[in-house]
Amino acid sequence: MITREDIRELAQFQGNDADSAISFYFQPSRPTNKSHREDAILAKDMVRHALREAEKNRRNGFARADLQRVLELTVGWSGSQPRARAVFVCGGQGIWREFELPAKLAETQLFVNRRFHLKPLALVLGAQPHLWIAFVDRHRARFFDLHLDELREREALFHALPRRGRGDGFAGYDAGHAQRSVNDEVLHHFKNVAEYLRQGQEKGVFDNLIVGCQEINWHELEPHLHPYVQKRLLGRFPADVGNVTEEQVREQAGRIVRESLDRHRHELVSEILGQARSNGRGVTGLRRVLRSLEMGEVQTLLMAENYSAHAVECSNCGHLDAHMVRYCPVCGHSTRELEDVCEAIVPAAIRRDIELLYVKDEPGLDQVGNIAALLRFRADQSKGAMSAAS
Ligand SMILES: [Zn+2]
Repeated sequence: MITREDIRELAQFQGNDADSAISFYFQPSRPTNKSHREDAILAKDMVRHALREAEKNRRNGFARADLQRVLELTVGWSGSQPRARAVFVCGGQGIWREFELPAKLAETQLFVNRRFHLKPLALVLGAQPHLWIAFVDRHRARFFDLHLDELREREALFHALPRRGRGDGFAGYDAGHAQRSVNDEVLHHFKNVAEYLRQGQEKGVFDNLIVGCQEINWHELEPHLHPYVQKRLLGRFPADVGNVTEEQVREQAGRIVRESLDRHRHELVSEILGQARSNGRGVTGLRRVLRSLEMGEVQTLLMAENYSAHAVECSNCGHLDAHMVRYCPVCGHSTRELEDVCEAIVPAAIRRDIELLYVKDEPGLDQVGNIAALLRFRADQSKGAMSAAS
């Protein structure tokens, strides 16, 4: 399974004129659309086409050899492929990485470029945070781990009810005491659950949390949840601990993630646009976003899902410019054209841990050029604040 480290490593990759980076995404179609055999044929055709192009453009031997290897790989895919795949290759730098992904890519695609093409990966991973789903009642707790469609049950917490009978005193005499002791045990149990979640959050084992429990139990658990855990909570739904099925877990988790992501994106669009209007911590439009990326100001980068724009990149210092200038305004070296500026900014965002969000159907974002960013700070304003203070 692909990890954050894997993605960061891919984002670090810098090709040059001699080393091409090949990114190949394979998406199996639904059985109702096409047969899996056709999927494999389509994949092969795509690689063969790229091979012909590479030969025509007299690309270096590595690119051709790499494409040949990818082609050989697809030969083994004639059977059914329930999962999508991503392959990243640069023979010149000794890189061959293969990953299985949830079958949720937009399509089968192949890219030969200077960098790895990471947008499809960012889209799939962005829509599927690493989740914990906790089912809790007064005596039991079960924890599920859901990441990239893989669901697995972690350990369960369970406490036995204090036994009645010998030691509880004569009938009636100790009833109050027994009840208190049950309540203590329940309280202890909820604290245990909260502590387990806190440790998971602290170790970074999950990105987000979903809780399945009855309303009454939620009121008992909630006060014990650490504020950091509460921040990770995406939502909850009513459930019985004893008889949850895997299917229910997937279904409920999928729904809650979708809803909360939609909400998050929508709120972010409004926040960034508002901040940009008031000259606060928001910028819109490619030119301004590129500048903020260069200044290290960006916290969250927001783009329309189909966003693409021409730009130039300095061959020396890496400066990106929305104006198609031949020479770098920063260092004076020559620039090269980028067919799509996302080739450069997506890996840059991943390397710097910038939250990357793609949105659909946001007319507000459309009006400002389909790209925007929320900033951690504004360099111009913090400088102003410093000089005012001194
Ligand atoms: Zn430069």
